[in-house]
Amino acid sequence: MDNYEVKIISNTKIAHNTNKIKVEKPAGYKFIPGQGAYVSINTQDLKNEERPFSFTGLPEWKELEFIIKSYEKDNEITNKLNKLKPGSELLIGKAWGDIKYKGMGMFIAGGTGITPFISILRDLKQKNNLAGNSLIYLNKTESDIILKDELEEMLGSEAAFLLSREKNNKYFHGRIDELVLRMFIVDYVRDFYVCGPEAFVKDITSMLKELGADADSIIFEDTSLVDNFNL
Ligand SMILES: Cc1cc2nc3c(=O)[nH]c(=O)nc-3n(C[C@H](O)[C@H](O)[C@H](O)COP(=O)(O)OP(=O)(O)OC[C@H]3O[C@@H](n4cnc5c(N)ncnc54)[C@H](O)[C@@H]3O)c2cc1C
Repeated sequence: MDNYEVKIISNTKIAHNTNKIKVEKPAGYKFIPGQGAYVSINTQDLKNEERPFSFTGLPEWKELEFIIKSYEKDNEITNKLNKLKPGSELLIGKAWGDIKYKGMGMFIAGGTGITPFISILRDLKQKNNLAGNSLIYLNKTESDIILKDELEEMLGSEAAFLLSREKNNKYFHGRIDELVLRMFIVDYVRDFYVCGPEAFVKDITSMLKELGADADSIIFEDTSLVDNFNL
């Protein structure tokens, strides 16, 4: 695999166990909003421990941005990444992934599954093209929500936040089931972008199909062969 050596520019905590890591962008590096890349820590013992992460920045930015959640277990790569200091070196592979914006739609995210959508929504905002798009975003607790203010600023009342493990009168409580989908879906002529843990994607895509969405209008990453997104 072609890997690029890049240095961390900044590593900042932005939410519960979650950091924003900005890294140098290799000359000529290209990605499409929604894509990600394999990343590892460039030390002798860790350079082969590659994990997939989505780009949350925009292709034209001078640096690459990742938002990474860890569960603070010692041996996790995510935990090690979030503890790295500026100047530490990472290895980054080529951009890949099937999640790309096709047209106006509903984004349905669970946990770190929001990360590819952050880049897509930032790109749409910049192109003044956010109108008609909406988001349903499920997390366990309020403290797990990533970039809530920015998502609300971009989508206003078209952003709905659900908490599965915390009752809080600012948010909807529960999981994303058919009732929730019926409540938020205006029509089935739009695209549906689904990202989150494998079981989440499987459940949501099958519910969408049952409710009337065309299989071609459902966009998701096939994560059956790679590490998954987490709630
Ligand atoms: C295409 C793609 C893009 C991704 N993009 C991002 C991204 O932008 N940001 C991001 O943070 N993650 C992202 N992920 C998920 C990320 O790749 C995994 O979190 C990472 O590979 C885990 O590696 P690890 O060594 O830290 O964990 P491992 O040691 O491999 O842990 C095994 C798995 O268990 C999970 N786990 C451990 N404890 C818990 C818990 N309490 N609850 C739920 N799960 C738990 C771990 O996070 C991990 O997924 C993406 C995944 C894919 C497939």
